[in-house]
Amino acid sequence: MEVYLAQPRGFCAGVVRAIEIVERALEKYGPPVYVRHEIVHNKYVVESLKNKGAIFVEELSEVPPKSVTVFSAHGVARSVEEEAAARDLPVLNATCPLVTKVHNQGKRYITKGRTLILIGHAGHPEVEGTMGQVPAPVLLVQSVQEVKALTLPADTPVAYITQTTLSVDDTRDIIAALQARFTDIQGPDIRDICYATQNRQSAVRDLSKLVDVILVVGAANSSNSNRLREIGTEAGVASYLIADGSELNPEWLKNARTVGITAGASAPEVLVDDVIEAMRRIGPVKVSVLPGREENIEFRLPAQLAAS
Ligand code: SF4
Repeated sequence: MEVYLAQPRGFCAGVVRAIEIVERALEKYGPPVYVRHEIVHNKYVVESLKNKGAIFVEELSEVPPKSVTVFSAHGVARSVEEEAAARDLPVLNATCPLVTKVHNQGKRYITKGRTLILIGHAGHPEVEGTMGQVPAPVLLVQSVQEVKALTLPADTPVAYITQTTLSVDDTRDIIAALQARFTDIQGPDIRDICYATQNRQSAVRDLSKLVDVILVVGAANSSNSNRLREIGTEAGVASYLIADGSELNPEWLKNARTVGITAGASAPEVLVDDVIEAMRRIGPVKVSVLPGREENIEFRLPAQLAAS
């Protein structure tokens, strides 16, 4: 079987930084270090950090006084920051700088007196964090239908921002619907969209032109991994999201000569290797990496950890 690996795939700079923050905090302060929410949406990553002494909680009320606390890459609402400050918790903020950029953009639009619209998925921690960072009500839209259902007058000054794990292609129709619906509308520069989301989605589109089946390595609750699988399916290729090699179903590969593999931004390469190993147990495999866009973005660590 021919296996093609998408390029780029897997970890983005925001995920690398978030994991490094937990690891460095464990080294500097010693375990335990508390992490609010899964640091990134991947069980393997979470388990390996647990083994090093991280404790994952959903609410700050679960964190004992004075314990070092990390906020996940998805960002948090102001109320969470305020709760941490009120409890005097030493916080390391692993919010991806690109998510923070969206928060700041939203705040700027509010300051200019615009009604803010967020394009994103209800209930996703990044969306909850963004809505809770902006000091005004935010309207969440998830589809063109929801744009049409908005009851604001057409001449309301509005602005939109988007969840980072949606790409230009994901938001194009919704933005077009917003522009048709409102006469005075502003939005961020298209270049502000997360580079990693865009690159991984373009790479899976290239992959879909070459292969019979696509395997996306990633967690079931990872928004960007699910989107990669959907893109494969939309391109007409049978596409499956799997956490690791143990979830590989040999039936999927029965009639496949070529298989494409990619990985969501929070999935480590070791899990891609695990899937390839599982394929080798089914039959001989020849692996090649597709040419693709090179990424060399790195984000700085928080000041408390940078010097350590
Ligand atoms: S996918 Fe983009 S926004 Fe999300 S953590 Fe990675 S770099 Fe940051």
